Amino acid sequence: MRPKLVAANWKMHGSRAMTAQLLGALRDRPPRCEVAVFPPFPYLAQAVELAGQAVSIGAQDVSAHAQGAYTGEVSAAMLADFGARWVLVGHSERRQYHHEDDVLVTAKLERALEQGLSPILCVGETLAERERGEAEVVLARQLATPLHLLGERAADLTIAYEPVWAIGTGRTATAAQAQDAHAFIRSQFAARDAKLSRLIRVLYGGSVKAANAADLFSQPDVDGGLVGGAALDADEFLAICAAAR
Ligand code: PEP
Repeated sequence: MRPKLVAANWKMHGSRAMTAQLLGALRDRPPRCEVAVFPPFPYLAQAVELAGQAVSIGAQDVSAHAQGAYTGEVSAAMLADFGARWVLVGHSERRQYHHEDDVLVTAKLERALEQGLSPILCVGETLAERERGEAEVVLARQLATPLHLLGERAADLTIAYEPVWAIGTGRTATAAQAQDAHAFIRSQFAARDAKLSRLIRVLYGGSVKAANAADLFSQPDVDGGLVGGAALDADEFLAICAAAR
C-alpha cells in the first residue's frame, strides 16, 4: 500500500503573510494524508518554522553543484540545513524556461540525494508530443537517464507525471489518461526492479482542483497530486487533501 502524498507547488507566488496564512490553515486543520509544501526559496525558513507535524517543506529547485562560485544558485546542503525535506526537480517550467535537460536534471537529483533530501522528479509531455502519439516516448526518455545513472538510489525518488498541456491551463488529464501514463511510468521502473515499481509513488500534476481530485486519486497507479494554482487557496487545497484517502 503506497500512502498518498499531496504536494503544493507555490511557484513564484507568496509573501510572508501568505506563508503564515496557508501554513496556519494546514496547522489548524491538519490533513489526514501526507502533505509537502514547496514555497519560493526566501520563505523556506519561515515555512519550516510554521509547518506543524502534519506538513513537511521542500524547495522548488536545487543546484546541480555541491558548492562554489555559482552565483544565484542554492545548494542541496543549504536546503537540508534549513530543514527542507523535499525538492522538486525537472519541473516543466524549469525544462522550458531554463533549458534543463535530462543530464542536468539527473545531476540535481544526485546532489539532492547526497544530502538526504527526497526529490520529486517531474516528467510529462507537451501537447504537440501527445498529439503526435509520442507521450510514452517522452516519458521513457525523461526517466531513462535518471534511472540509469541513479541505479539503486532511484528507490528514493517520487515521480510527478505532469502533462505540460495541463499545467496552469485549467485543462486536466482525464482519470483514464492519468492512469495510463502512471502505469507506463511504473512499467519503466518494473523493467529494472519489480519491487521498486510497486513501491515508487507517482503523483499527478496539472490543474488538480477539489472538483477533480477524487476521480484522479482513485486511479490505482495515482498516489496523490502535485498541485500548483489550487494550492494557493487554503480551503481548496484542504479539499484536495481530503480527496487523497
Ligand atoms: C505545477 O506547477 O506543478 C502544477 C501542477 O500547476 P497547476 O496545478 O496550476 O496546473
